[in-house]
Amino acid sequence: MKLKDGFGMKIGAHMSVAGGLHLAVNRAADSGFNCLQLFTQSPRLWKSKLITQKEIDLFIEERERHKLKFVVVHAPYLPNLASPDKSILQKSFETVLCDLKIADAINADYYVLHPGSHKKTDIDSGIDRLANSLCEIFHQYTPNLTFLLETMPGAGSIIGSTFDELALIINKVHEKVPDVKMGVCLDTAHIFAAGYDIRNKNELKKLVTEIDKSIGRKTIKIIHSNDSHEPLGSKKDRHNHIGKGEIGTKGFENMMNISFFRKLPWILETPKSDDDSDIKNRKKLEKIFDNASGS
Ligand SMILES: [Zn+2]
Ligand SMILES: [Zn+2]
Repeated sequence: MKLKDGFGMKIGAHMSVAGGLHLAVNRAADSGFNCLQLFTQSPRLWKSKLITQKEIDLFIEERERHKLKFVVVHAPYLPNLASPDKSILQKSFETVLCDLKIADAINADYYVLHPGSHKKTDIDSGIDRLANSLCEIFHQYTPNLTFLLETMPGAGSIIGSTFDELALIINKVHEKVPDVKMGVCLDTAHIFAAGYDIRNKNELKKLVTEIDKSIGRKTIKIIHSNDSHEPLGSKKDRHNHIGKGEIGTKGFENMMNISFFRKLPWILETPKSDDDSDIKNRKKLEKIFDNASGS
């Protein structure tokens, strides 16, 4: 990694915690990453797994040993803090609250949540329920880490496929809990499926203007760097290897030519088709980073 503009690339991948949380750190380091994303819980189960203090200590120790720059915890997929169903809302509240405390305990820098679904009610009431749920969580526990909402492809009743929606949610939460640190995780495959054509420089410029007018560019804290298996505007969420999907190398290069994107941690959630898939995708992104100028 060259240091054209005085800093190296912050690059990570989502890694499995099979065998213990700390093994995710080893997996990231072994594949040449300096950042890491993980689930502390099984992402498709409601049951919360108990994490021991020993496991937490081991994670922190390994993270320091490998000098990881950023650790991101991704929330499980089941919670829906915008649900109109009271029992789902309650379960979601408990799951996210518990997981958030674990993320803080392991000194994670960021926590990423999918904004959720309004389930065929309407977007405004969905956003209200989500903002209220988040306020309740933060009233009970204000995290040290920065809480991120992820950009979504926007199928059906899913909230968070535009930066205006995300701005509205963050503003509503900040009105009631001003101290909580919040931001946005931009997923390249999701925004592409939502209709933002990052392959085109002019469209990307428009996107940056839209970001500045809504959440503000400083609100974006990490990039989920995934190519998209699905076409522009498809609203479908299927990730592909970097350069092998509909976005292609050009889209990533366009983004890395913009200084504020370039400086962020780039976290891969690309398919693990082969043992060396993560390494191949890392090398591809690093090459794009080196070729881009960051003007
Ligand atoms: Zn996600
Ligand atoms: Zn993502």
